[in-house]
Amino acid sequence: MTQIVVWLVRDSVRLEDNPALETAIELALAADARLCALALLEPRRWTAHQWGMPRTGLAWQRFRLEGLYELRMALASHGIPLTCLAMDVGAALTAVQEHGVIQAVVTDLPVSVEESAEHAEITKLGHPVVTVATDDLFTPAQLPFDRADVPATFTRFRKAIETSPSCQPHYPGQRPSKWPQGIMGEHAVLDQQLVALHASAESVSFACHGGSKAGQAWWSDYLEAGALSHYKDTRNAFEGRHQSSCLSPWLAHGNLSVRQIWHDTLAYESTHGANESTYWLRFELLWREFFRWYARSAGHALFSRAGPADRMIAWGDGSMRWDDWMAGTTGEPIIDACQRELNATGWLSNRGRQLVASACLAHCAVDWRQGAAYLESRLVDFDVASNWGNWAYIAGVGPDPRGGRLFNLSAQADRYDPEGIYRARWLDR
Ligand SMILES: Cc1cc2nc3c(=O)[nH]c(=O)nc-3n(C[C@H](O)[C@H](O)[C@H](O)COP(=O)(O)OP(=O)(O)OC[C@H]3O[C@@H](n4cnc5c(N)ncnc54)[C@H](O)[C@@H]3O)c2cc1C
Repeated sequence: MTQIVVWLVRDSVRLEDNPALETAIELALAADARLCALALLEPRRWTAHQWGMPRTGLAWQRFRLEGLYELRMALASHGIPLTCLAMDVGAALTAVQEHGVIQAVVTDLPVSVEESAEHAEITKLGHPVVTVATDDLFTPAQLPFDRADVPATFTRFRKAIETSPSCQPHYPGQRPSKWPQGIMGEHAVLDQQLVALHASAESVSFACHGGSKAGQAWWSDYLEAGALSHYKDTRNAFEGRHQSSCLSPWLAHGNLSVRQIWHDTLAYESTHGANESTYWLRFELLWREFFRWYARSAGHALFSRAGPADRMIAWGDGSMRWDDWMAGTTGEPIIDACQRELNATGWLSNRGRQLVASACLAHCAVDWRQGAAYLESRLVDFDVASNWGNWAYIAGVGPDPRGGRLFNLSAQADRYDPEGIYRARWLDR
C-alpha cells in the first residue's frame, strides 16, 4: 500500500526556508512515502461570511492564488504536483486517502482557533499531525517564557526576547535539495479561480503580485534603494514606494520568510551601517511576532466582545454612520481618503489603519469586531493575528497598557499629510 506524508500548505506559500515542508520531506524520505502537497481553498474562509461580510476579499484572494500558482510551478520542477482543493480539511484528507495510507499531516504551528480546530479534526480522523513553527521568528523552544504565559504587553515581550541570548531567529534555510516522489495533483480549481479573478470587473487594483519572486524583487529593490536606512523616519507615511517596506502582503501569505527578512536587515547593516532605522524594521517584525504568540495564548477570547483583556467598553458616539465609514463618505477627509484607498486597492498604510480603526471605535455605534471584520474582508495582507490583535489593542480590549488609543484625526492628517496630497488623490475619485 502506498504510504503518504501530507504537507498541508497553510500561510507559508513558498519553498525556501519552510521548516514544515522540510519536515514533511524528511518524514517521507525516511518512510519511503510519497509527498502530497495539499493546499485548500477552505469554504470556512473562501466563501464564508461574518458580520454580513465576506471572510476574504478579492485582493487577498488574488494574492493567495498567484502565490499558489507560483508554488505549483516551483513544486512541479521538483516532480511534486500541487493538489489544490476547494474543500475543508476533513474532506480533502478523505480524498487523499483514496491514493494510499496517510502517515502524517505536517503543517504550520496554529496561530488561532480555526487552525487548532482543524488539527483536532485531523487527529479525530486518525492521522498524526506534526506542527512546525514556520512563519514565526522563533520556535516555541527558543522563547524565554512559557507559551501559555506570553507577556501581556509588547514592551515586556520585546524586552524578554531582546535580553535572551538564545532568542535569535534561525538562519533561513534554502530550497530543499532532496525530494521524495510526489502524489496526486489536482489544481483545476486554482486555475479557474485565478482566471475568474483576473477577469472580474470588481477586481481591486493592488499593484503587486503574490508569490516569492515578486516579493523578493520588491524587497531587493527596497534594500538597493537604501530605504532601510531612513525607514524609521518615513514608515508613517500614507503612501510612497520607499517609505515603509510594504512587505506585509508577502509576509502574510508566507511568500517571504520573516527570518530571511530579519537576517537581510543584519546583512544590510554590515555593508551600509546600522542606525535606528535599520533596527526599527526588526522592531516592527517583533510586533508581528508578538501578535502571533498573543493570538495563540488568547484563543477564542481574541474574538470576544470583551477581548483578551476582558473589558466591556461602550464604543462609538454614533456621530459617524457605519455605511459611510465603510464607503469613505463620512465627510472626514482623512478617513474617506483611507477607506477609498482600501476599497480600491486592498492596501492601507499602518497610519491609515490606525486612523480608520480609531474613527470606527470613537464614532460608529458598532461593536469593535465589526470593524475588524471589515478590514479582514478588504486587506490584501489580512492575517488573523495582526488584524485582530491590532484592533483589540486600539479598542482597549487587548494588550495596550494604556487601555486603547483614539487619535485626533485632523491633527494626524496635518502631521502625516501636511500638503494634503494623499487626501486629494483619493477624495478626487
Ligand atoms: C487596525 C489594524 C489592522 C491591521 N491588520 C493587519 C493585517 O491584517 N495584516 C498585517 O500584516 N498587518 C496588519 N496591521 C499591521 C500594520 O498596519 C501592517 O503590518 C503594516 O501597515 C504593513 O505595512 P508595511 O509592510 O509597509 O509595514 P512596515 O512598517 O514596513 O513593517 C514591516 C513589517 O512589520 C510587521 N508589522 C509592522 N507593524 C505591525 C503591527 N502594528 N502589527 C503587526 N505587524 C506589524 C508587518 O509584517 C510589516 O510588513 C494592522 C494594523 C492595524 C492598526
